[in-house]
Amino acid sequence: MCGIVGFTGARETAPLLLEGLKRLEYRGYDSAGIAVMGEDAIRVEKISGKVQKLCDKTENGAAVHGRTGIGHTRWATHGAPTDLNAHPHLSNDGRFAVVHNGIIENFAVLREALIQKGYTFESETDTEVIVHLLEDCDCGDLKSTVMRTVAQLEGSYALGVLCSDHPNTLFAVKEASPLILGVGIGENYFASDVTALVSYTKNAIYLDDGEFAELTPEEITVYDSTGRKMEKPVSRITWTVEAAEKGGYDHFMLKEIMEQPAAVRAAIAPRVRDGEIRLDEFDLSAEELGQFNKIVITACGSAYYAGCAAKYALESLCRIPVEVVLASELRYGDPLIDEHTLLIVISQSGETADTIAAMKECRARGAKALAIVNVVESTIAKLADWTLYTWAGPEIAVATTKGYTTQLTVLFLTAMFIGRRLGRLGDERYAVLLYDLLRLPKLIQNAIDLNHGIPAIARKYHKSPSLFFIGRNTDWAVALEGARKMKEISYIHAESYAAGELKHGTIALIEEGTPVIAVCCNEQLLDKTISNIVEVKARGARVLAVAFRGERKIVAEANDVIYIPPVNTLFSPALAVIPMQLLAYYVAKENGCDIDKPKNLAKSVTVE
Ligand code: GLU
Repeated sequence: MCGIVGFTGARETAPLLLEGLKRLEYRGYDSAGIAVMGEDAIRVEKISGKVQKLCDKTENGAAVHGRTGIGHTRWATHGAPTDLNAHPHLSNDGRFAVVHNGIIENFAVLREALIQKGYTFESETDTEVIVHLLEDCDCGDLKSTVMRTVAQLEGSYALGVLCSDHPNTLFAVKEASPLILGVGIGENYFASDVTALVSYTKNAIYLDDGEFAELTPEEITVYDSTGRKMEKPVSRITWTVEAAEKGGYDHFMLKEIMEQPAAVRAAIAPRVRDGEIRLDEFDLSAEELGQFNKIVITACGSAYYAGCAAKYALESLCRIPVEVVLASELRYGDPLIDEHTLLIVISQSGETADTIAAMKECRARGAKALAIVNVVESTIAKLADWTLYTWAGPEIAVATTKGYTTQLTVLFLTAMFIGRRLGRLGDERYAVLLYDLLRLPKLIQNAIDLNHGIPAIARKYHKSPSLFFIGRNTDWAVALEGARKMKEISYIHAESYAAGELKHGTIALIEEGTPVIAVCCNEQLLDKTISNIVEVKARGARVLAVAFRGERKIVAEANDVIYIPPVNTLFSPALAVIPMQLLAYYVAKENGCDIDKPKNLAKSVTVE
């Protein structure tokens, strides 16, 4: 969600800041701006709307000169997305500029006090208090000024600070919002995530909450919250520039759908050795695992649905009850959780604010947390007792695809690992499942290949005002994700229902021509789902079924059938979701939607 960048060095900064902001666009935003240290004053350019508008306004940065600067994409929380509310904000004396991601919770009190002191406000943002506080706290020493300012702030903030008295210096502050530092040669950077840094450097320093840094072209100095100098390790960024670019596809989403076989392979390969699943980062003994009498999975959005889909594998293989709870509910739910609970936390970005809060709440009650995240060194990864990375690589499209399938894969690995360690998953079943798991990358590729007819199907469905997705058990979990994908990127109303639940109400909404997408990949329940297909057809529905290749019964009942290769039912969501993703993609494309950046959505939701 939103982003900040900073650069100091010998090069013209504005074009670099704009390029960085473009790479952060996928995170979601509504306005953009830069502040650059000019000859003797800070120059600010900002605008509501796309980064491209800012590029046009500044001749791609060529019209703004200076070698140290900060940039911002805003996702408004306080005040409408207008030019005035866009960041950076300037102090009244023009000496300080600030960019901020997050929320200043005590801004109202601070604002009132600053107005009393005579400061004037230009915007409706919470952020603007910071820049006036900097002026108010100015003691000549920039580090102390920043510390005195930050000491008054409550809430979440990643900050970039520029001061005209120190033209080659930037300050970066992190508290509960993502921020990393890039280490260059003769130049240094900060950004909300590595995608904005990879084209400049592969060396990064990950700040922890409460820490802040001083950047000059030659040096980065990191301080703890008390202002003491710290030694922080420099980590290598493994993501490549190409991975953060479209590579010939029309959209990142399609590219990422196509990357799923490789991503799932990367999630599995390092974890299966000599026919055994080895989770080095979660290598608990049978005795340690035996302490857990319940598993609680918490997440938001599609990660939550990955949890819903994996619940079946976890319960079936580990014989431990599993609850899947939305993080935004769990955090305020007074949950019955103690030291015998294994909490599994799922997040692509590792920065999801609700998930972080739910995790803290559960850990405070004694639960141990296993994190499944994609972004290395993210907040959730650092807070957890154990972390399993999904190794999906950068996911740029707001609507997740490979993020979801790799989360599922890691959950399957975890289920098999725990079941095996506890002696609840026998050799024979383990071998059969492992065979299928190792084939998943290839089967996902087959599922993609089998679905080349989806663009034509999308043309039949794209004008429908509403779609229903149904299924039972694992199929229902996939139906939930299918409906979400459709809503997220095509803005068509879609609803997912457990197939057996339809006749308890929703079936009244099925009319002549209503599309019903029926997921039929659970062989044990196929006949039951077919009965539901017959019921909706009797009310005029047009049925698109998703079934295993070779399944004949379905052909007689559905109007259209799309196939995936057969696989063990427990793992079927990883394949059945492929046609769901492609259908949503092509329907959205037919309708001319902004697929990679759907309206009002952000990639990583870092505020509550
Ligand atoms: N709360 C600030 C605002 O509304 C910052 C939002 C952001 O993170 O972009 O301006």
